[in-house]
Amino acid sequence: MSEDCLFCRIVSGEIESDSVEETERWIALRDVNPQAPTHVLIVPREHVAVVNDLTAEHDSLLGEMIRGAARIAGREGIAESGYRLVINCNAGAGQSVFHLHLHLLGGRSMRWPPG
Ligand code: AMP
Repeated sequence: MSEDCLFCRIVSGEIESDSVEETERWIALRDVNPQAPTHVLIVPREHVAVVNDLTAEHDSLLGEMIRGAARIAGREGIAESGYRLVINCNAGAGQSVFHLHLHLLGGRSMRWPPG
């Protein structure tokens, strides 16, 4: 845990969140500033700041997070209409919380390329 990390404080329960699902390795919560009708963040319990810090030891974690996102998309009713999974890496890509997380966005049509 990183003391000054917002998502570490949410993972520990110190800060409340709108939880969607929890597993041993990650938690899923609704984004406070949703960019789509469904906007869920899948957040690993382990503090990894950015994608660049991932090692081979995290391979199964990322797989579990993506499969979890697909499961949540199913429950949210957006699996067939479509959804987007996004991980922003560093400020230039729009990362604002430096604890790696996977965005699950859906429930509206999406444009490409993203802004
Ligand atoms: P990123 O810009 O990729 O780092 O994404 C960070 C996301 O965290 C943004 O979409 C924020 O709206 C969201 N966020 C910030 N604080 C909270 C919070 N306390 N609970 C839930 N989501 C949050």
